[in-house]
Amino acid sequence: MTYSTAGSATLSLPTVLDVQELSIYYHNQQVVDTVNLTIPEKQLVAFIGPSGSGKSTVLRCFNRLTDLIPQLRVTGRIFYRGKDLYDPQWDVTSIRRQIGMIFQQPNPFPKSIYDNIAFGARVNGYAGNIDELVEWSLQQVHLWDSVKDRLSVNAMALTIGQQQHLCIARAIALDPAVLLLDNPTVNLDTCSSSHLEELLSQLKKRYTLIMTTHNLRQAARISDYTAFFGTKMNTSGHSIGYLVEYAPTSLLFQRPQQALTQRYVTGRVL
Ligand code: ADP
Ligand code: MG
Repeated sequence: MTYSTAGSATLSLPTVLDVQELSIYYHNQQVVDTVNLTIPEKQLVAFIGPSGSGKSTVLRCFNRLTDLIPQLRVTGRIFYRGKDLYDPQWDVTSIRRQIGMIFQQPNPFPKSIYDNIAFGARVNGYAGNIDELVEWSLQQVHLWDSVKDRLSVNAMALTIGQQQHLCIARAIALDPAVLLLDNPTVNLDTCSSSHLEELLSQLKKRYTLIMTTHNLRQAARISDYTAFFGTKMNTSGHSIGYLVEYAPTSLLFQRPQQALTQRYVTGRVL
């Protein structure tokens, strides 16, 4: 495997997402500069970096949630399994089914636990047995045993940690290939957070996972590849996020190629 510190990685694993020259603008003000990045299949990729370096915005481009922000403009290209994600021929609903998003604040529907899973399946015309799908999805996230006797209870009654697991179950019920997770453990207590980390380590056997995290130890513990985003000033004094370095996690933490990465991962202030 070879990789370049400029950000583009040439990986021997199949590529799921290929990000080429991605720049992002809000109100015509550039906020993310020229990201090149390839995401390998069935690996866990962590995005780390200071606040405002563009991690969440880049993540949102991967399932076109950025379409929902009218003042936002994206340039460059993102290929999902070789197809341009921004090609108008894509049905955006289909993209979001295949590339699901988990937010930092769990957002179950204010419906029963059962319906949280069944709703999306019905809307997408799921042809199989929905009871079985509900059970399978909840089993995948290790929630089944604790909720199987109360599937009709409102999901909002679950703990925050359980709600986050339910949101993952809801996403995987749609048979995605990729899960995007924006700071998924930041609102969880230590115990729920380590349960979720364990779950993510298992889920990467079936799905490609991309997560942003403020927790460097978490990135070092569970990710296979790490992308470190930094910020720089443009000539008018606005802060712009960019990809500083992208490498296998152990290399990025132990032998970073860039002085900036070295300072960040060793805890010295940027
Ligand atoms: P991170 O996730 O790394 O903290 P973000 O992706 O949230 O960074 O933000 C990247 C940049 O985009 C920041 O400069 C931020 O101020 C800007 N930004 C994010 N959301 C908006 C918005 N709705 N309007 C204008 N600028 C925004
Ligand atoms: Mg963020």
